[in-house]
Amino acid sequence: MPQLEGKTGIVFGVANKRSIAWAIAQSLAKEGMRLAFTYQGERLKESVEALTSASMPGALLLPCDVTNDAEIDAVFSRVGEEYGHLDALLHSVAYAPKEELEGDFINTSREGFKLAHDISAYSLVALTRAALPLFEKAGGGSVLALTYYGSQKAIEGYNVMGVAKASLEASVRYLAANLGPRNVRVNAISAGPVNTLAARGIKGFTTMLKYNAERAPLRRNVELEEIANAGLFLMSPLSSGITGEVMFVDCGYNIIGL
Ligand code: NAD
Repeated sequence: MPQLEGKTGIVFGVANKRSIAWAIAQSLAKEGMRLAFTYQGERLKESVEALTSASMPGALLLPCDVTNDAEIDAVFSRVGEEYGHLDALLHSVAYAPKEELEGDFINTSREGFKLAHDISAYSLVALTRAALPLFEKAGGGSVLALTYYGSQKAIEGYNVMGVAKASLEASVRYLAANLGPRNVRVNAISAGPVNTLAARGIKGFTTMLKYNAERAPLRRNVELEEIANAGLFLMSPLSSGITGEVMFVDCGYNIIGL
C-alpha cells in the first residue's frame, strides 16, 4: 500500500522535466501524496501543465512568484479551500542574476545580493509561515529545501548564490527550532551537481560535473532519482525524528579533503 495515501503536499520550483522538484514530486505522488504545484509566471505554466496532466491529472496548479506576498497568500488560501490541510512543502527555488555568477565575487552588486537572498533564502521563511495554519490542521508538517555545498566552501562561479545558500541553511535550522514544538520539521538536501536549467546559469558547470564525478567516493555524479528518494524520505513520516538537518546527496563528494 502507498505510504502517503491521504497526505497532501505543495511543490515550488518545477520548471521542466529536468527540475529536481519534478523528480521529488514524482516520488511523492507514487506513494499516494496529493500534490499542488506552483509555477513562476505564465511563461512556465504550459510546461508544468504538460508534465502534471500526463501523470497527475487534476493536480492543482497555481501561479506564484516567491517575491510576491499577495501571490503567496493566494496560493495558500486556494490550497486551504481545496485540500483543507497540508502535510508537506517542497522549496526547490533559487535565483541569482547571471552577471553575479560570471564575474568576481568582489563585484557583487547590492541589488544582485538582495535579489538572490530574497528568492533563494527568505522565500523559505515566507512560504513556511504561509503554510503553517494548514500544517496545524494536519497535526504537523514537513518542509524540504534544496541547497548546495557552495554554502560551506568557496566554489568558483557560485559566488553570491553560495552566500544565499548559507542563509537558506541557517534558515532551515532556525525554522526547525522555532516550529518543532508544533510538530513541523524543516530539513534540506544538499545535492551534488545535476544538469538542470538553473545549473546551466553557473559558469563552468560542465567542468564542475566532470570534477565531481572524478573525485566523489562513488566516482560518479548523483542521479535525479537518488535526490528524489532522499526527498521522499525527508518529506515523509519515515524521517519523523529528523529536523534542522542538511543531508548531502552528492555521492560523498563533500567528505573528501585531498
Ligand atoms: P530548475 O531551474 O529546474 O529549478 C529552479 C526553480 O526556481 C524554477 O522552477 C524557477 O521557476 C524557480 N524560481 C526562480 N525564481 C523564482 C521566483 N522568483 N519565484 C518562484 N520560483 C522561482 O533547477 P534545479 O536545479 O532543479 O533547482 C532547484 C533547487 O535545487 C534550487 O534551489 C537549486 O539551487 C538547488 N540545487 C541544484 C543543484 C543542481 O546542480 N542543479 C545542486 C544543488 C542544489
